[in-house]
Amino acid sequence: MIPTHHDVIIVGGGIIGGGIAEQLRCGSRLRVSIVEQELRARVKTGASQAAAGGINPHLYDEGHGALGPMAQRSRDLYPDWIERLRVAWGQPIELRRSGLLCVAIEEKEHDRLINDVLPLLRERGVPAEELGADEARRREPLLGSAVTGGLWLPDDLAVEPLRVMAALEALLKADNGLTCVPDHAEDISADADGVRVVLRSGRVLRSDKVVVAAGHLSHELVKDFIDWRDGDFSPVKGQILEVEAPVNGGLRTQCDALVRDDNKTHIVRATPYAEGRVAVGVTHDRGDASTGTSPRASESILRNLRRILPDVAGWKVIGARAGIRPGTSDGLPVLGYVDPHRRVLAASGHNGLGITLAPRTAQLAVKLLLDTPLTEEDRADLHVSRPERLAASPSR
Ligand SMILES: Cc1cc2nc3c(=O)[nH]c(=O)nc-3n(C[C@H](O)[C@H](O)[C@H](O)COP(=O)(O)OP(=O)(O)OC[C@H]3O[C@@H](n4cnc5c(N)ncnc54)[C@H](O)[C@@H]3O)c2cc1C
Repeated sequence: MIPTHHDVIIVGGGIIGGGIAEQLRCGSRLRVSIVEQELRARVKTGASQAAAGGINPHLYDEGHGALGPMAQRSRDLYPDWIERLRVAWGQPIELRRSGLLCVAIEEKEHDRLINDVLPLLRERGVPAEELGADEARRREPLLGSAVTGGLWLPDDLAVEPLRVMAALEALLKADNGLTCVPDHAEDISADADGVRVVLRSGRVLRSDKVVVAAGHLSHELVKDFIDWRDGDFSPVKGQILEVEAPVNGGLRTQCDALVRDDNKTHIVRATPYAEGRVAVGVTHDRGDASTGTSPRASESILRNLRRILPDVAGWKVIGARAGIRPGTSDGLPVLGYVDPHRRVLAASGHNGLGITLAPRTAQLAVKLLLDTPLTEEDRADLHVSRPERLAASPSR
């Protein structure tokens, strides 16, 4: 039986919505409901179930820019968060201290890593080391002969997102103070008295506050509250494959590289999981919101991977997943109230870093929902993520 009044409704049960629900229930007695359209779906299409699971606070332009410090704080929350989930769930979730090797096969990319990225990381106090080709191969013997070296970031972590999602789903379903509503939120309205969420089934839920964590569909759900500029949100489809190492084999470290092919830059990622399994990818198709995996994307992943980790590209493929990242034009997330009554909290736009950013996003969202005093660091992270930076005009 679904109650009609809730303290907080969360729309979207990906790692962001699920993570906020879990932290909110840990830190308060509020009655929470999660509305998730795919709760009973056999095939899920959200980004969280497709992700590789690298916890990489200092990767690509986003991590090198204003988001780096927030992402680092999120990385630092990971060990305690995973331990809490593991204990409550009673099943293993491995948080690998795998580090990250950012490697290059082209001179220009090698120079970028050493001359642009390394000084920036050093300036921020992030442990990072330059490695020559031989040193890189000593760290990861599976690297191919074309690799010229790169950067070693020893503090990066890796987790299997499907395990985290399974833990969140099990814990939330077992929680008496939380209701899971398998439905699609069609419309949200809010005034000084509260929030009204209209579901596709025709039901209407009421609450004091609502969190919109609906991934790449979030901005549509809150567009009555904030006049978004055109073109600042876009779906970014991504696919990964899972491969299995031969007996006694396995990838030691997380690897990342940017490679050029057909005049396009491709991301090569390899993220080690338990039992010799490795997530490899990833494709990055801005504007594509189609669901499902494609053989063409799989071929492209293996072709690019072969240039960095040739042996891994030959391992048995045991799975493929695709999801849609919530993209923003500046690569930064959106976290904050979007209405004048401070009832509608948007938590989205995590692009390719939502796994990394999940615990810090949840921590900040819970502080906003509970009106907890903010620290200077909280204020800095909320400033980076403020929704109004993407508004054409002030909140309606
Ligand atoms: C291939 C791939 C690899 C990635 N690798 C990494 C990585 O290694 N590290 C990293 O940090 N990040 C990675 N990411 C990015 C990360 O997965 C995303 O940023 C993150 O999962 C976004 O989480 P979310 O909860 O906002 O969105 P989602 O996981 O998409 O969840 C949103 C949920 O909202 C539901 N929903 C939407 N609209 C409604 C509605 N109206 N009513 C009810 N429910 C609704 C959807 O069904 C969905 O379940 C990767 C992404 C992809 C696709």
